Amino acid sequence: MEELEIKEWGKEVFDLLSWYKMDVVKNAKVLVVGAGALGNEVIKNLALFGVGNIYIVDFDTIEYSNLTRSVLFREDDADKGYFKAEVACRKAREINPNINIQCICGKLNTDVGLGLYRKMDVVIGCLDSRLARLQLNRLCMRADVSWVEGGMENLTGNVRIFKQGENCYECGLTENAKQNIFQQLSCAGVAHRNEKQGRIPTTPVIASIIGAVEVQEAMKLIHKDEVQSGVFSTLLGKWFHYEGMHNHVSIYDSVAFFDDCPSHECWNDIVKMPSLSADTRINDAFTLIQETLGVKDVEINLRNDKFVDIIVSKNDNQRFTPMLPESKISDYIDNNYDLYTRSRSDLNQNAYENIDEGFPYQRLTLREIGIPYYDVIEITTEKGVFHVELSKDEDRFPIVVKE
Ligand SMILES: [Zn+2]
Repeated sequence: MEELEIKEWGKEVFDLLSWYKMDVVKNAKVLVVGAGALGNEVIKNLALFGVGNIYIVDFDTIEYSNLTRSVLFREDDADKGYFKAEVACRKAREINPNINIQCICGKLNTDVGLGLYRKMDVVIGCLDSRLARLQLNRLCMRADVSWVEGGMENLTGNVRIFKQGENCYECGLTENAKQNIFQQLSCAGVAHRNEKQGRIPTTPVIASIIGAVEVQEAMKLIHKDEVQSGVFSTLLGKWFHYEGMHNHVSIYDSVAFFDDCPSHECWNDIVKMPSLSADTRINDAFTLIQETLGVKDVEINLRNDKFVDIIVSKNDNQRFTPMLPESKISDYIDNNYDLYTRSRSDLNQNAYENIDEGFPYQRLTLREIGIPYYDVIEITTEKGVFHVELSKDEDRFPIVVKE
């Protein structure tokens, strides 16, 4: 018999805080998107607070330049080129072994299912591009989950909160910024320019400040009752701006939610399908969906990524068969010498946006055409549009519930 009693994390420390609810925090579910400088600070703080379920998403690997601003990374991680999400996850477990921390080494829109977003209490964005923020905003609106946004440059940083029905990242963008992002979006696939983002100058201290404010806001959002009763107010509808060069801290009113915005779609009419997984073959998926929905015509709409089967060179008609989601085509070209040496304007790709019974690759799985585990897929039928959850994948994303 163990003599030592395992002490409860935060007992006698956080209990002193009037607002901190131990049972709420240890059962909270938070998704952190981005495990760079901001993500490191956010993950560290969530682990220290004892947030019970933390999911970390990042597709990138650790480089030496990350070490100056990333408390969870070491030189050895950069030597080995480990994934940021994986190392951050491991280190956060060392900080607090009492919590459930999981990682997804992949992209926020093509490797994370909407089912996971829907399960979260709050999402924290630690991103460095507007395109990624726009994608995250759309997914969070679809999943009806609030997200905390952080951004930084030099000694300046911002924090905002976006919420379905109240405040939207896309609505707050200027026309110029929108144009810029949509241009990047249309450059996916063979037309992708593969230009590296310009490096943004940041410091370890601004990452600490902005990451800390993001987590403080997330902790408030987790305490729904306290927000409701006015124990504290959040930054929802506000713009927190910190300027460190001359020490200006400002909080502006900032609300934007316009009727004509394409980001506001909310998928709350979900049909759960316990026998459907991303590993299900397309022909089997059609049968299952037809039986469950009682429909004849089924078309799967690929809302996050297209599927590319063929790339043809206009010059000499040479054919390549990537059989990949469009977001992975740029990497495919970079890793194929014969393709890489050709001009991008010489290449034509054939991409599918909708998958129906005429789709020629019925034996592929949903995952092979770019649908992540535990996703919610949009189905068009003769009876209308349905949103179907791949519920068989739910067990892949454990959530720990404690008394
Ligand atoms: Zn909007």
